[in-house]
Amino acid sequence: MSEVKQQLKIYANKIVETALVVGAGGNLSMRDGTFMYISPSGFDLQGIDDDQWVKVDIKTGEVFGDLKPSSELLMHLECYRKRSDITAVLHAHPSYSVGVSSSGKDIPMLFPDAPAMIRNVSYLEYLIPTTEVLATAVGEVIMDTDVVVMRNHGVLTVGKTMKEAYFFMQIIEESAKVFTIASTVGSPRILTDIEVEDLRNLSSEKYRSNLLKDSK
Ligand SMILES: [Zn+2]
Repeated sequence: MSEVKQQLKIYANKIVETALVVGAGGNLSMRDGTFMYISPSGFDLQGIDDDQWVKVDIKTGEVFGDLKPSSELLMHLECYRKRSDITAVLHAHPSYSVGVSSSGKDIPMLFPDAPAMIRNVSYLEYLIPTTEVLATAVGEVIMDTDVVVMRNHGVLTVGKTMKEAYFFMQIIEESAKVFTIASTVGSPRILTDIEVEDLRNLSSEKYRSNLLKDSK
């Protein structure tokens, strides 16, 4: 089995096991040269066989094989076309991120890992899933961010590795969860701009290099 399919299988399992998606929701893909492999439409992510990942030409959008690619195919293509530096795209429906963002609020930075790892987060108002309109909107913000929160829908993350994309997904969901807990107990103290800046300056290189070190 190729390295790409091995990674896809590992992380398809992980996002279900960690409840970042429920049912057949969510989709993931990885770049392989000028092609990408994406989860097929309508499958339980844990039930995808190695030969069922759908091969798509990134430039032309041509789909190979008999299976239908994820209905969010266009969104994934936009990411690879706009970002030559990334190899992985992950889209999930994590409950706290969807919950907090659907209330109209942004997900604040409450603990050091968030600003150290995530350079910024883009928010999109609700757009109909699977449409070209949504894919275009994602394409417009993905140049400046690795994390896109779609209100009333879900989250998309991109990474140099699938591990990185997964890490971003976990951190944004943890941030939304901690914010929900803090808001329930009292008033959350959000990290100040200076604290966020310091963490980015001091830690991001260290955090990132540590992350990439064990990216297998
Ligand atoms: Zn979705």
